This record gives sequence, C-alpha cells and structure tokens, in this order.
Amino acid sequence: MHPVEEMILQLKKLRNGEEVVCKHCGKGVMKPIGDYKTTHCYVCDNCGSKINLD
Ligand SMILES: [Zn+2]
Repeated sequence: MHPVEEMILQLKKLRNGEEVVCKHCGKGVMKPIGDYKTTHCYVCDNCGSKINLD
C-alpha cells in the first residue's frame, strides 16, 4: 500500500476511536490527547512518538 494511503487509513481509525499500533516502536498504541473526535494530536503510549493532524 502507498505510504500516504496507509497514513490516511490510520487517521480514519484514530478518528473512529480504534487502536492504531505505533509505526515507530511497533509496540505501543496511539492515544488521543483529549477527545479522539476533536484532538489534533495523538501520542504513542510506549515510545512517546506523536502524530499531529494539521
Ligand atoms: Zn511507539
């Protein structure tokens, strides 16, 4: 799959409140900072890697 398509799929999952495994460490899951429906930032609960939606 194209990396950009994969990224979009991941973001859709995050917006649905589904668990997405961190791409950096492969262990943690991306957790929303605040409400998953409105937040612009997700952080890995294992390595602390962040995703920003701008
Ligand atoms: Zn991680």
